[in-house]
Amino acid sequence: MRTLYSSAQIAERVRELGDELARVYAGRPLTVVGVLHGSVVLVADLIRAMPIPHQIAFVRASSYRGETTTGTNLQTSLEGLPDVAGRDVLLIDDIFDTGRTLSALAASINALGPASLRTAVLLWKVDRREVAATPDYYGFRIPDEFVIGYGLDYNGNYRNLPEIAVMEPGDL
Ligand code: 5GP
Ligand code: MG
Repeated sequence: MRTLYSSAQIAERVRELGDELARVYAGRPLTVVGVLHGSVVLVADLIRAMPIPHQIAFVRASSYRGETTTGTNLQTSLEGLPDVAGRDVLLIDDIFDTGRTLSALAASINALGPASLRTAVLLWKVDRREVAATPDYYGFRIPDEFVIGYGLDYNGNYRNLPEIAVMEPGDL
């Protein structure tokens, strides 16, 4: 596996994002909403880099991909999401790939009447977008490679890796 971003590089970028978001949401009723499970590491680090009052919550998304990149079956659930009507929502995931996950969740959450909804991801795979929206905040733009670590998994493993690494065919 090849390191793409070290834990120190990630920590520095997360601090910058936290500073920016703390300015954006200062004095606002903010709910940070993470997408399970991939966002947990970013959410844990990012909220501690945002020295402003806010609440956190989690929603679910899972996609079952076949051998090809087409035919994705996306399932989402807002079960357990507290009332966000009139609140600012910052929806956080590990990575923006096709964008279908965050677009679907954003549409569902927007129907609940938040004051605003923006998205933040650590990684944005710029060449793969299949929706109109782009992430409002992102850590790094990356090429189309399969990455693991810092919340991102391969078959459920490697989420605890402190860095972002590229998995190459020989690693599988
Ligand atoms: P999207 O809906 O934007 O196509 O996909 C987002 C989801 O796909 C992410 O939450 C993540 O679970 C998964 N995903 C996309 N690209 C990668 C990748 O390079 N590595 C890993 N581990 N998951 C990915
Ligand atoms: Mg995910």
